[in-house]
Formats: sequence, structure tokens, C-alpha cells
Amino acid sequence: MTIQSFFPPQRTLMGPGPSDVSPRVLSALARPTIGHLDPCFIGMMDEIKELLQYAFQTKNNFTMAVSAPGSAGMETCFVNLLTVNDTVVVCVNGVFGLRMIENVNRIGAKLVVVEGEWGRAVQPSALEAALQANPQANFVAFVHAETSTGALSDAKALCAIAKQYDCLTIVDAVTSLGGVELRVDEWQIDAVYSGSQKCLSCVPGLSPVSFSDKAVAVIQNRSTAVQSWFLDQTLVMGYWSGAGKRSYHHTAPVNSLYALHESLVILQNEGLENSWARHKAMHDKLSVGLRDLGLDFIVPESERLPQLNAVTIPQGVDDVKVRQFLLNEYNLEIGAGLGAFAGKAWRIGLMGYAARNENVVLCLAALKEALK
Ligand code: PLP
Repeated sequence: MTIQSFFPPQRTLMGPGPSDVSPRVLSALARPTIGHLDPCFIGMMDEIKELLQYAFQTKNNFTMAVSAPGSAGMETCFVNLLTVNDTVVVCVNGVFGLRMIENVNRIGAKLVVVEGEWGRAVQPSALEAALQANPQANFVAFVHAETSTGALSDAKALCAIAKQYDCLTIVDAVTSLGGVELRVDEWQIDAVYSGSQKCLSCVPGLSPVSFSDKAVAVIQNRSTAVQSWFLDQTLVMGYWSGAGKRSYHHTAPVNSLYALHESLVILQNEGLENSWARHKAMHDKLSVGLRDLGLDFIVPESERLPQLNAVTIPQGVDDVKVRQFLLNEYNLEIGAGLGAFAGKAWRIGLMGYAARNENVVLCLAALKEALK
């Protein structure tokens, strides 16, 4: 049988990501591919760097996009900064904190875990207690926006505590970037990574990262080579930094970077604060409708992520049937529960281009019909 071209259905993506991609981003993706060392392309990479500095609210010179998804951004931070001689305090309140532990264990660094409740923010007092009990700790890592539960942690407070104990901070901002307040320099975040497919509403497959000067110094002064050749930032730095000095490291995902550039231009045009406010406004609107449908949030109101709304599946309702109904009848994707919430929760995303009135209205109408 001759296989035909693939035409995906037109879905509305309101799950935990990927989110709806803006039509402007999709059309940027279709622009002509040029060489990744072409001077025009290099100029665009410089602009991506500047736009990412804005999105992250940082002046960090080492700010760029890893050519791979958010998990690679996470691994980039861990493998470059850590060695077996380091002690890392990892705060866990969901699936992605567990992945941080996996990274630390594979590197062989010493691990201190701050066990948090799933569906709650990381408790600053628990981090403080762990640092008091482990004075040798030199890194603190946590997830700002836990996509598996919809909990937002107070990154500013956690970083401030980490700094009191002279620790470098590693922050997962995969779901937070562009959707909630994030201020890398002001909050003293040393290494941060994100993903293109959440509140930036770009296609999946890129991971913006940024390292403070202190973090860059740690990487440059390592006495052992980073175990991953591809993610070794001492090699990638030569590719992303230094006008006119770029040399081949790997073939950049040229068209995906056009898409990232466009998504960041859209963010800049809207304004970061306006984007945060829009996510909050759409969340408020969705929350009222979900409450009217009798759906309860997992996370207490003050710790809720606007862009990821996790609600408990009511007793007697078939999780899979409802999600299939939404997909088949409304072309609408919402997310299943993950980890401890598998089968128990739905995760309704309002990320980037998906955080719009029409999406909220569609989602509430479709859910109402599904729950009849
Ligand atoms: N960290 C968080 C908080 C996430 O939500 C995700 C993905 O959903 C990741 C890391 C991993 O990103 P990716 O799936 O792009 O590899």
C-alpha cells in the first residue's frame, strides 16, 4: 500500500502541552530553510538570545535554546553543573521533581530530598530545614510550575533561602515561562530551563536555558569533562555566543528556531506582564465555569497555576470516556492525570495561544455535555 501524506486533524490543545501553536508561529516554520551558519541565520540567533533574555528577565550572556525538548534542558543544567563531589537539595512535589532526582543519581552527586505534598507548593520552611541539616549542600533544585499537579511554588522565596546557605539554584521553568511571573536575575536563579511548547506556544522540541555568571564559572572550572558530549555547554557556548565566531557544533533545527523567534516576538509585542495577566484572567474565567460544573481543584487557590488547572474527576465518571468524547466530538484535548494523579485528575491547560476566551468557552461547553 502506498502511504499518503499525513494531515493531522485541527485540534484545540488544552492539555499540559504541547499547547495550541499560534498561526503566526506555524507560518514562520514554513519559511525557506537556510544554512545554520548563514550570516542571516546567525543574526536571527542573536535576536533569539535577546528575546529570551527578555522572557527570562535576565542579562545573562549565556542564554540560548537547547536543540531538544525540556527534558534536555533539565539534563543540560544538571550534567554541566554537577559532579560527584556536589550535594544537591532537590525539592519534590510532583513528577518533574522526581526526574531531577533521576538526573542527580545518574551523575552520582549526593542527594538530599525535600519531600513535598503533591498538589501543593514546595514549603520554604522544609527547604530551610534541609539546608540547616546539610551544611555541605551547594545546590538547590526545584520545579517552579509543577505541570503534573498544577502547583506554583514561590521561586523567589526558595532562591532567597538557597542563597542564605550559599547554594546555586537550578529552576525548572518549563511551564512557567511566559505564563506566570518569573524574574531570573532579581530572584537569583543560577540555572533555568524551559520548553518551547507550553506558554510560548511554539512547536515542541526546543529548550530555552540561561546560566548566571556564577553558574558559567562553575562549568568552566570543572575538573572532569561533562559526561554528555551533545549537552556539554563548554562546546555549545562557542556556537551560540560571540558574533562572527560561531563554529559548527551540531546542525541547528533551523525552522524550529524561526518558530521560536516568532513566538518570542509575539510575547514581546504583547508584553510579559500582559501575558501573565492574560493567563490569570483566563484561569479566573475557567475556574468559575469549572466550579459551576461541580469540579474541584486539586491545588489550594493561592498556590494554583493559571496555565495548568488540575481538577478531581468526580466519583463515577469515566476518565477515558470523557477525554475521548472531547477529542472525538469537539477536537479538544485535555490532559490525563500524571503520576499519583493518574486516573484521578484532569489537567486543563491554558497555555500561551490557548489562553483565550474562545478556548475557555469551548472547554466549559464541551465538558458540560460530556458530564451530562
Ligand atoms: N519539566 C516540566 C515541569 C514539564 O512540564 C515538562 C514537560 O511537560 C518537562 C520538564 C519535560 O519537557 P519535555 O517533555 O519537553 O521534554
